Amino acid sequence: MGLLMELTHRCPLQCPYCSNPLEMDKPNIELSTAEWQDVLRQAAELGILQIHLSGGEPTARRDLEEIVKTAAEAGLYSNLITAGVLLTRERLQKLAENGLDHVQLSIQDADAENADRIAAYKGGLLKKREVGAWVKELGLPLTVNAPLHRQNIENLPKIIDLALELGAGRLEVAHIQYYAWALKNRAALMPTRAQFMRTVEIVEEARERLKGILVFDFVVPDYYAKYPKPCMGGWGSGIMNITPSGKVLPCHAAESLPGLEFDNVKTRRLADIWLNGPAFQKFRGTDWMKEPCRSCDRREIDFGGCRCQAFALTGDATNTDPACSLSSLHAEWVKVADIESAKPAPEFVYRRIGGDKPKRETA
Ligand code: SF4
Ligand code: SF4
Repeated sequence: MGLLMELTHRCPLQCPYCSNPLEMDKPNIELSTAEWQDVLRQAAELGILQIHLSGGEPTARRDLEEIVKTAAEAGLYSNLITAGVLLTRERLQKLAENGLDHVQLSIQDADAENADRIAAYKGGLLKKREVGAWVKELGLPLTVNAPLHRQNIENLPKIIDLALELGAGRLEVAHIQYYAWALKNRAALMPTRAQFMRTVEIVEEARERLKGILVFDFVVPDYYAKYPKPCMGGWGSGIMNITPSGKVLPCHAAESLPGLEFDNVKTRRLADIWLNGPAFQKFRGTDWMKEPCRSCDRREIDFGGCRCQAFALTGDATNTDPACSLSSLHAEWVKVADIESAKPAPEFVYRRIGGDKPKRETA
């Protein structure tokens, strides 16, 4: 159904919850324009419907216009997932002319100063307001994506107002998922249970009030959920992810799992990778499951949750995701969230290529 194309891991922002891996691909190993265009044609042949142009920051690729054009020619619905700060109106217009279908703009906070601090980037919110206006002028549909955590959670009502001001038709209120950089920064990001519950009330109220104006996608934090989410809709069941260097992954965090081999679009056809690639076969379906998932009624609803989270927190990717209340590790895991969220937040470890040491601001 969907193909997430991480065109580059370059990004001028340094969000401490970024879903990119801790070891990011350097620009010199990124796929070329022709290689991405070939991927798009193969994706259309395979029956993929939507592509998500992501990163890093996809607008850091100078060939984005050509990639979008090829996607449109191949009949693919294209969604640009961007932080917006590198865009110009001319460029966005060219992307729209070349067939771009949808823009998803991420915001760090509705408070400009706090947004700058979270992304370690000055002036980001002002730029996003401009980008929102251009998207509207050009008649493209807009989704605003707002990752939520303890350092912006109190501003949720203002974030909803901001999404309306920007002209969004959809708002993703996405509590942080704790993989990659977010796992490293978990204590700095984890809200308390009471803070989380308040966001449920706020979103429910706003959903009712803004019916027909703004659609809400609400992503619950695993730590406060009863059952896990079906990660990627089920491993190898509907979505593929391609890294900047061409590795094809069943999910964006799959490289954190040891012992998996990932095929590359440079050496194997996309359809063959999807159908027969060892990484896609590994956790597809339910045969790989252990108890309690194996005999659970929900096994084809949530597919045992997230393999990467199961590995990161239990050391075994075939274990039940500890986000599940039926996991023997769930109570202990929830305790960690309660303890970390009650303590003062530590400093962020900012996300950046070439290392994970904190770096406060861009030049
Ligand atoms: S989450 Fe932040 S740092 Fe990561 S790609 Fe998006 S904007 Fe860049
Ligand atoms: S035991 Fe496994 S299948 Fe059942 S709800 Fe928990 S994670 Fe889902």
